[in-house]
Amino acid sequence: MGSQGTAFSSNCRFCGSPLRHSFVDLGMSPLCQSHVEPEQLDQMEPFYPLHVYVCDHCFLVQLRQYVSPETIFSEYAYFSSYADTWLQHAKAYTELMIGRFKLDAGSFVVEIASNDGYLLQYFVAQGIPALGIEPAANVARVAAEKGIPTLVEFFGEDAARQLVVQGKQADLLLGNNVLAQVPDLNGFVEGLRILLKPHGVVTLEFPHLLRLMEEKQFDTIYHEHFSYFSFVTVERVFAAHGLTLFDVEELPTHGGSLRIYGRRATDLSKPVSQRVHELRAREEALGFTCLDKYSSFAETVKETKRRLLEFLIGAKQAGKSDAGYGAPGKGNTLLNYCGIRTDFLDYTVDRNPYKQGKFTPGTHIPICHPDRIRETKPDYLLILPWNLKDEIMQQMTCIRDWGGQFVVPIPEVKVHS
Ligand SMILES: [Zn+2]
Repeated sequence: MGSQGTAFSSNCRFCGSPLRHSFVDLGMSPLCQSHVEPEQLDQMEPFYPLHVYVCDHCFLVQLRQYVSPETIFSEYAYFSSYADTWLQHAKAYTELMIGRFKLDAGSFVVEIASNDGYLLQYFVAQGIPALGIEPAANVARVAAEKGIPTLVEFFGEDAARQLVVQGKQADLLLGNNVLAQVPDLNGFVEGLRILLKPHGVVTLEFPHLLRLMEEKQFDTIYHEHFSYFSFVTVERVFAAHGLTLFDVEELPTHGGSLRIYGRRATDLSKPVSQRVHELRAREEALGFTCLDKYSSFAETVKETKRRLLEFLIGAKQAGKSDAGYGAPGKGNTLLNYCGIRTDFLDYTVDRNPYKQGKFTPGTHIPICHPDRIRETKPDYLLILPWNLKDEIMQQMTCIRDWGGQFVVPIPEVKVHS
């Protein structure tokens, strides 16, 4: 990977085999976090191919890298702390880890892609020393203000070695929603092994490819997500770097995620759980180690698009007004791939003040404060971050006062009255 604006590789980022098989082609799309300022509306926007491949050797589903991580993550607009359910998830995780692995004031916790300290704050509150590593300087600054030590850096082999030289190795090393986002997958996983104490534990959470495919979550594909993992493939990647996955949990977050537990292959104090054997067997039975499994997904995606457009066209023809809720990365893929602009959605809203007053990338839908919904009383509210649909429907029950209804686009259009 170079520091240039684009870097092209047609080989698998894990095993190096040539990439020959298309998984799904979502056309051209702008970067999902490049929200457009009002004064930029008349300017060109860069669009990049959103074409996903599957490796016929290791079955890693992946996007070629078009944009350097520096371009994507140097000023990342996502502040984790704006989603209530995600904070609850983070707190529950810290309690689970402290109990299971007996963490205390003598332990050291490191989080990769620690964002604004949304998670580490719970370790710090328990008196457990913690360090965040976060490449986006603006979010790292927010973490530092909360009293969470944060290195502004990309994690990889070099960063891991530097910390080891300073005498720092982790009892617990974690990364939530970062594994998919590393272009140098081998360097990253090697870095994990280096930074881990001999008896340390690494946990990572990332969206599960099995759920992405079963629930047609094509909108979770965007340029910032380079890799899409089944358990069998991630297990191969870790094994190649001397790490054994000794436990795994299936979580409901982000439409269905895996939390994997890794240790050094040499640490035999933690036996491999039954859950590891079961999930591996289930994926093998479902065909995740055969190319055929991956070839039918593209048609499923096209059908999902047609159904959403059918609904929106019908709503417009019936004289209904539609607004969006949320301006997440997944919304960008959905809106661009389906060609949904202000012809279908008058505006969208987001609780994150960083996004308010801007426009969605490529599709130029205005992003407003949530109060706008009460002012304009739309007939339909299209929930773009469908993974938070329960929380959003609860917050926005007021739309029922004027007979408004919620619309969830994935896995297929569903209206909730
Ligand atoms: Zn491969």
